[in-house]
Amino acid sequence: MLRDPVCGKRMNPNKKPYAVVTYKGQRYFLCRPLCQAAFEREPEKYVAALQRKAKNLQR
Ligand SMILES: [Zn+2]
Repeated sequence: MLRDPVCGKRMNPNKKPYAVVTYKGQRYFLCRPLCQAAFEREPEKYVAALQRKAKNLQR
C-alpha cells in the first residue's frame, strides 16, 4: 500500500503523488512540499517509523 511516510496519509495509486523520493533503493511517495522537505531532512527517522508500523501489523 502506498503511504506518505511523513503524515501517514494513504496515497491513491491511480493518482500522481506530489513527489517521489528514492531512499536506499526504495521509493517513497510524498503528498505535499512540506512532507517532501521533512522526509528529505530526516529520511532515516520516517523509514524506521514505517518499518515499526509494518511489524506491528504483522503481529
Ligand atoms: Zn503527506
